[in-house]
Amino acid sequence: MTATGPATVDRITGVRLSSVTLPLPTAISDAKVLTGRQQPMTEVAMLFAEITSEAGLEGVGFSYSKRAGGPGQFAHAREIAPALIGEDPSDIARLWDKLVWAGASVGRSGLSVQAIAAFDIALWDLKAKRAGLPLAKLLGAHRDSVRCYNTSGGFLHAPVEEVLDRAAESVASGIGGIKIKVGHPDPATDLARVAAVREKIGDGVTLMVDANQQWDRPAARRMCRAFERFDLGWIEEPLDAYDFEGHAQLAAAFDTPIATGEMLASAGEHVQLITAGGADIVQPDAPRVGGITQFLKVMALADARHLQLAPHFAMEIHVHLAAAYPREPWVEHFEWLDPLFDEHLEIAGGRMHLSARPGLGVTISEQARAWTVEEFRI
Ligand SMILES: [Mg+2]
Repeated sequence: MTATGPATVDRITGVRLSSVTLPLPTAISDAKVLTGRQQPMTEVAMLFAEITSEAGLEGVGFSYSKRAGGPGQFAHAREIAPALIGEDPSDIARLWDKLVWAGASVGRSGLSVQAIAAFDIALWDLKAKRAGLPLAKLLGAHRDSVRCYNTSGGFLHAPVEEVLDRAAESVASGIGGIKIKVGHPDPATDLARVAAVREKIGDGVTLMVDANQQWDRPAARRMCRAFERFDLGWIEEPLDAYDFEGHAQLAAAFDTPIATGEMLASAGEHVQLITAGGADIVQPDAPRVGGITQFLKVMALADARHLQLAPHFAMEIHVHLAAAYPREPWVEHFEWLDPLFDEHLEIAGGRMHLSARPGLGVTISEQARAWTVEEFRI
């Protein structure tokens, strides 16, 4: 059904999809590589959606895939894109439903909704631009800046000296927290790296660790106990992402907050995590759960349960969403996506600052165009 009432003030006239391969400067390893489940990561597959309207507005959104899945996201997006033409771009919730029904046979989580995420985010960008507001302000911001922490300097392929240098650089550049990867086969190595970083950055900078789902329940209990003395900001993904009960047991047993949720691939999966009490800090990822429309549902539920929020990756989107969350959140700093955009977020005083630019406040760079491997336009 297409909206045709008197409240319709604009229509979608064009969609452009781009599949962009973003190379990483070095091959990245976390605990999933050390356990042999995945290969080191060398690139990120980006899916950009640009939506244009009769009134001359344009929205930009993106989704992404690490390791496999990028070509599948692009192919699914290309199939469902024609359903948007002629629609009112302001009817974002209805259009999300329309797109998910168009691909209903492949389900309502994972790759199908990640393809929809690129459109959904572009529609929110377009709506905020129509209002002349940064997206956070359109949603209803609680703050104009958000605490941020760096992750990209703390991977497991990096020797401890490099991790320490990167941590010091991050803090000097105005970033407020440091997260390092753990899940080394020898627990003593994890503890030594955490102790070294704590000593380097001092007690005044928040330190977090991330095990990327690679401990079993007994190992996670032992490691959570051993980490208690470091007063960590949180312990992330100590267990398999879908072990909600195991995460809930850890959250109840230890003082250090348990954070998880980045791997969940729909708002519905977050409902299960949150209702199970599986996280002190919820880590949804807007592209992964199907876009901003779905992310807002996760935010509402997390808030109702008085939980903390620390969105995963994609800081260009999440700075806006985190700014609209009632409790002081954290946004994850990765510089990986910087070459894809002409504009960059300002970081100072431990926080990432919103700009006054309308929408997400990003435009796709010439470099991103040069890295485009496939394109589709209607
Ligand atoms: Mg993580």
